[in-house]
Amino acid sequence: MEMKIRLDDPRFDLSGTFDGTVDTAPALATAAVHAGRHDLRHLGVHAPPLDLSTTYPLLDPLAGTASLDAMAAGGEPQGNSVYGRLHNPTVARFEAGLAELEGTSSSVAFASGMAALTACLLAAKQRHGGHHVIAVRPLYGGSDHLLNSDLLGLETSWVQADAVAAALRPETALVIIETPANPTLQLVDIAAVVRQAGEVPVLVDSTFATPVLQQPAQLGAALVLHSATKFLGGHGDVLAGAVACDASWATLLRQVRLITGAILHPLGGYLLHRGLATLPMRVERASLSAEQLARRLQGHPVVRKVFHPNLLTGGLAHLVGQQMRHGGAVLAFELAADEAATRSLLQYLELITPAVSLGSVDSLIQHPASLTHRVVDAAAQEEGGIHGNLLRLSVGLEAVDDLWLDLDRAIHRAVEPSRVLTR
Ligand SMILES: *Cc1c(COP(=O)(O)O)cnc(C)c1O
Repeated sequence: MEMKIRLDDPRFDLSGTFDGTVDTAPALATAAVHAGRHDLRHLGVHAPPLDLSTTYPLLDPLAGTASLDAMAAGGEPQGNSVYGRLHNPTVARFEAGLAELEGTSSSVAFASGMAALTACLLAAKQRHGGHHVIAVRPLYGGSDHLLNSDLLGLETSWVQADAVAAALRPETALVIIETPANPTLQLVDIAAVVRQAGEVPVLVDSTFATPVLQQPAQLGAALVLHSATKFLGGHGDVLAGAVACDASWATLLRQVRLITGAILHPLGGYLLHRGLATLPMRVERASLSAEQLARRLQGHPVVRKVFHPNLLTGGLAHLVGQQMRHGGAVLAFELAADEAATRSLLQYLELITPAVSLGSVDSLIQHPASLTHRVVDAAAQEEGGIHGNLLRLSVGLEAVDDLWLDLDRAIHRAVEPSRVLTR
């Protein structure tokens, strides 16, 4: 199968080198700035309007209810939006923009990443009739928790990525993977899982990669999930989720969304749409910084292990540069220290904020075993490599040398108090 994402793909070339040829497909950086904005000139505005309406005047109150009927079935409005839980033009512009970047025909936005995952599970169950799901660990702690609960009446089989085919049953409605995975940045070969799954749809949680680094739908994934709270929003001020998919899945997902009410507030849609324009620049810059920090950490005397896809050798290392353009802006590392010393590092940082979440313009660090993955049971923590001495760092847009100074000083203070360097 031809890989659509290559390091030399002009859509992704932000290095500025010009080899004399011009690709007719707009580069990702160009597409991101214009995505979902194609109707603005026609509207006579420059910035997308923020439409906060909860309801819309019925243009012809005596006419039929075609638009309402269409939307109740998960379709697009015919005419105006009718009611905010069914459709909002500001949110729809963000959805169109994200779909353009993922190379899918549609995307559907939700109130959070977890609302988006819940909707995918309900839609898959509805579509197929089966109640069985196959999931590959590690997944985001909340996803693991949801799949392990019986809230949705689904049964989950947890398998390794190479054992998906063996776990398929007639009632399997969905296969779920996350790559790079939280928090140790393990990769899963998307195309290989799609091949194993056969007719069964595959959902890829692509939150850590964003469409800048990877486009799972181009590799056969039916559903591409984002916690838009992270890189897509990018400024730590929107909670949202989104699913990029084809039109038939989008219809189902919109149906679930309007029934369950898991809609995204229009202001969130507005901010996400605005964030798309700078997404390639943000992700590119933060990813290069993350790789640099990962390499420096690797040479640090009290760092035991560093996790970043660009540091992989053998195994799935080839996926970086093929499936993914770059390993991304998140890294994790283990200190040569116990859990208490590891956690104490967080209090010595001055620039990097100890906080859950990731993908913000500023760098965030957290301790997965006690925070994001505390709901994951002990065996699954062990399986996912979530040890007490592990920290996850989401690299922001600060100068990389400033981040390194902050990190290095805090590590020394936490692990080797006698070797504290003062500046
Ligand atoms: C944060 C996150 C989620 C959940 O998203 P919310 O927006 O917090 O609901 C799901 N998957 C991954 C990989 C995440 O990082």
